[in-house]
Amino acid sequence: MSTDTGEKHHFQAEVQQLLDIVINSLYTDKEIFVRELVSNAADALEKLRHTQLTEKEIFDEKLDLEINITTDEAAKTITIADYGVGMTGDELVENLGTIAHSGSKKFIDALSGGDGDKGANLIGQFGVGFYSAFMVSDDVKVFTHSWRPDGGHLCWSSDGKSGYEIEEVEGQRRGTKIVVKLRGGQEEFAGAERIKGILQSYSNFVPFPIHLNGERVNTVEAIWMKPKSEVSDEQYTEFYKFAAKAFDEPRYRMHFSADAPLMINALLFVPDDNPERMGFGQVDPGVALYCNKVLIDAEPKGLLPEWLRFLKGVIDSEDLPLNISRESMQDSALVQKLNRLITKRFIKFLDREAKSDAEKYGEFYGRFRTFLKEGVVTDAEHRDELAGLLRYESSLGAEGETVGLDDYVARMRDGQEKIYYQVAPDRGAIEGAPYLEAFEARGLEVLFLYDAADEYLVGALGKYADKELVSIDRSDLELDEVEAEGESLSDDQAESLTAWMGETLGDRVKSVAVGGRLVDSPAVALSPGGAMSPQMKQMMRQMNPGFSAAREVELEINPRHALIRSLEAARGAKPEFAKLVAEQILDNALVAAGLLEEGKDMVSRVYEIMQQALEE
Ligand code: ADP
Ligand code: MG
Repeated sequence: MSTDTGEKHHFQAEVQQLLDIVINSLYTDKEIFVRELVSNAADALEKLRHTQLTEKEIFDEKLDLEINITTDEAAKTITIADYGVGMTGDELVENLGTIAHSGSKKFIDALSGGDGDKGANLIGQFGVGFYSAFMVSDDVKVFTHSWRPDGGHLCWSSDGKSGYEIEEVEGQRRGTKIVVKLRGGQEEFAGAERIKGILQSYSNFVPFPIHLNGERVNTVEAIWMKPKSEVSDEQYTEFYKFAAKAFDEPRYRMHFSADAPLMINALLFVPDDNPERMGFGQVDPGVALYCNKVLIDAEPKGLLPEWLRFLKGVIDSEDLPLNISRESMQDSALVQKLNRLITKRFIKFLDREAKSDAEKYGEFYGRFRTFLKEGVVTDAEHRDELAGLLRYESSLGAEGETVGLDDYVARMRDGQEKIYYQVAPDRGAIEGAPYLEAFEARGLEVLFLYDAADEYLVGALGKYADKELVSIDRSDLELDEVEAEGESLSDDQAESLTAWMGETLGDRVKSVAVGGRLVDSPAVALSPGGAMSPQMKQMMRQMNPGFSAAREVELEINPRHALIRSLEAARGAKPEFAKLVAEQILDNALVAAGLLEEGKDMVSRVYEIMQQALEE
């Protein structure tokens, strides 16, 4: 890319679109433009510090790593200057004329929906913070000189509407100086007191000195390096807001340091809400990696497992080589060690929290459980510990009451070897189906799994505490005999009835048998591996158009149920009617199992049965 100086450039279409929104629909929280420009200045200083430590290049000047802000009420300007890396001409075009991040498209889409109020708050999180300057200005100048020897001395200027110009200028030192000429009505941002207030609330933790009109305004502190006893709750929260560019209060925080096996200082936060619930898609990792207070990577991939991407904060390890590149990070044995250590610490932390304040944990779990479940499925190394953090309703508890797998195992009945569960959209679906009654009659607890993800989860987990997890609708479960009440078909009757039903139902079922698990229902449809989820069935049908999950069904009938006994009694005298009833029993069982694929036959059959019953 070559840059012609002194020429007009057009913004990329997305930038143009974004600027339209910034200028025309973001009315509140305009002050955040100060935070955004200061944070860009800090990023540029951070990059310079890193470059100084890792590259052997010669720098033009020894300039302090600091940010200088000046306000001028007469000229209606605010100027933010840093001695950071600066930008070359190509970088100006690339960074201030185009948007590379995919997140910004989502930002634009979300805001086009008319939610302008939240927009200003979110702008920094989408990597488009610079453009917030145009909320208060239609005359922004960016003077810059790159640390690279061939950098040029340049001025980028724009009104935010028609594009931008880049010109050669004299005398710009290394770094960047942004002059924002305030639009009519926005003059307040040329007031020193106003800016001081903004800096104190948003930029107090910027790790470089900030001067406002020559006076120092922030206290540079790496609070993660301090002992816990020296940091107040307010400081933690303020730091969280700064580090996560957030406005909420953190839900949990974990601050710890260790000397062995690695030197670590970590300060991690769980935000108030799950950032992926709001529909912005998968978030980037939010825990920055430092080496002795020097930033190595603000969003390192591979530092923590994917499923921990909701965490915010800082991990600092003196043992890391400073020149570790972002590409090689995931391969570094040290980073992997850090990863394992911190992940285990965090899981243990959550476990302790869950035990000490179950209600608070429940709220966390309600919002963040998708991440924990993703972890169980994808993270084999931490699977078992993570599974201990899961919470489910169960047949022994009331609605809304949950248990963990440890609780479940602790109160298993003598001789119980398996952990029983059922996946269904809600409690009603489980209580309404004929599977649960066998377990209730035997005093066996059943976990109720309501998330679609749970199906994959139990598949991945397989066992917990050496106990197999099994679905209660499986046909191959061996349950103890229970004392059955009431009259029952004799063995002979049962045998001939099941044989007749098998014949009558033909290839609609795999088999018909008498079973001991039913208590209140006449029949139940079982499958060898438990019920198939709708997604699974759809997949099977796509692979094999003739596939029918219903045909794999083993129908189990209850020899003590009045309907079954009457059926046996009636089938000699009224064979046609008995056939209809047998088919209807199967369909009802399929409905309860969510396996009925075609309701048309059933509806006409029900009419037929009703009519014949009335004609009696
Ligand atoms: P983000 O900071 O999330 O990348 P911004 O819109 O705030 O998004 O900034 C866009 C880019 O412009 C930055 O990534 C950086 O490359 C460049 N930039 C902005 N301000 C400065 C500055 N003061 N010094 C050097 N580069 C800067
Ligand atoms: Mg920025």
